[in-house]
Amino acid sequence: MSSLVQVQGLCKSYRMGRVAVEVLKGIDLEIAPGTTTALVGASGAGKSTLLHILGGLDRPTGGNVTYAGADLFRKSDRELADFRSRSIGFVFQFHHLLPEFTALENVMMPALIARRLPRQVEERARMLLDEVGLGQRLLHRPGELSGGEQQRVAIARALIMEPALLLADEPTGNLDAKTSEAIHDLLTRIQQRTGVSMVVVTHNERIAAGMERIVRLADGLIHTDTLEEK
Ligand code: ADP
Repeated sequence: MSSLVQVQGLCKSYRMGRVAVEVLKGIDLEIAPGTTTALVGASGAGKSTLLHILGGLDRPTGGNVTYAGADLFRKSDRELADFRSRSIGFVFQFHHLLPEFTALENVMMPALIARRLPRQVEERARMLLDEVGLGQRLLHRPGELSGGEQQRVAIARALIMEPALLLADEPTGNLDAKTSEAIHDLLTRIQQRTGVSMVVVTHNERIAAGMERIVRLADGLIHTDTLEEK
């Protein structure tokens, strides 16, 4: 398996006063291009911590993460931010959209910050908003959209830079069952069209079962790693 991401001996501890709390205790994991992985486990197992490190949002205290052969955490903070912007899309439980901007502007923002050509960025943002079913809501601000619609905007924003990896942390954790299902179907459809690798932290067993692979964390280690034949 040629891998997009390779994680070796990953450790993370937090210092709480004089005590170090070990959250990740040596994770080995490979993620192949174009695959879907569910990251599951009890609350506090370290799922978000692992996802944040995979996405270069946080640095590990041991071990390493390589992307296409390059060691992520040898990069400076600035290089890391640059890499994140170009290669990784994030969707969180809460949408983190900018309230004073329209849906279209929110989706365009990461690409404008990366100094892509505005005309092309707008065209792509319109296409993505159309794909997530919000072609008629381009000029709405987040406060004028439902929770499900806000999350659709966040998904479109995560894709504007055409990332190789999409990381989602409980993307439907804040939504009712029916809306969750629709968002999950949307993520699956987008994954199939774009071939992006997707890692989703979820409590939802049904959503997890729809992924090719289920990685279960327990007490800071990979407890089981199940690859479904599809
Ligand atoms: P999960 O996503 O599986 O619920 P997390 O990765 O959020 O688990 O957290 C794992 C453990 O790490 C928890 O015990 C949590 O309290 C601790 N933790 C997470 N972030 C921090 C932090 N910034 N400082 C201290 N402890 C943290």
